[in-house]
Amino acid sequence: MPPAADPGLVDKLVVANRILYRQGVVDGFGHASVRHDASPGHFLLARNMAPGLVRAEDIVTFDLDGAALDAAGRRVYLERFIHGEVYRARPDVQAIVHSHSPSVIPFGVTGQALRPVFHMSGFLGEGTALFEIRNVAGDTDMLVSNGPLGVALAAALGSRSAVLMRGHGSTVVGASLEQAVYRAFYAEVNARLQIQAMGLGEVTYLNAQEAAKAAAINDTQLPRVWELWRQEIGTIE
Ligand code: MN
Repeated sequence: MPPAADPGLVDKLVVANRILYRQGVVDGFGHASVRHDASPGHFLLARNMAPGLVRAEDIVTFDLDGAALDAAGRRVYLERFIHGEVYRARPDVQAIVHSHSPSVIPFGVTGQALRPVFHMSGFLGEGTALFEIRNVAGDTDMLVSNGPLGVALAAALGSRSAVLMRGHGSTVVGASLEQAVYRAFYAEVNARLQIQAMGLGEVTYLNAQEAAKAAAINDTQLPRVWELWRQEIGTIE
């Protein structure tokens, strides 16, 4: 058992869950996690519940195999393996959002990458990866519900910031909870805009240099939007 996580980090994970719901990135489903601040081989994730209702006492500690250390009999998310295997494969990742945000779905099912249509989504400069679960495990219930599927998802993600999951949703990673939430929000916005732009004609995306520069400057602005979103969720009872 690792030492207790920083209570401030637990509270921030609660806020992240509430923001993702309030901003329409998740609904009754989807989840967000953060790497344990004192033990990189563990992560924090809510018990199996709607993200919009998460409180500090609902946060559970997991190891990278997806085993819950302190669930005390509470149900845990079926897709916790997404988080453990991405943390294992990507030491730079400190936070992860898995969602079924709707505008992203058409990209996964047509094999098209999300690409940055505006400066807010410079983090998509490398494009999105695609995870085709059928190639890994045949006909499944589409869920990343075991370790090998998590390994395959992490491999598909590679070094990118987001991976699309065909017929399911997406997983977005970040170097902090603020960054992962920002990316999950703007992945959805970018998807909406990209669909609109593609319907109008040939799209000029940010090129790699523009995307990298935009992403760097946006990362300095994360506290501004986080504070807005945090206030919008109101008091957590
Ligand atoms: Mn899912």
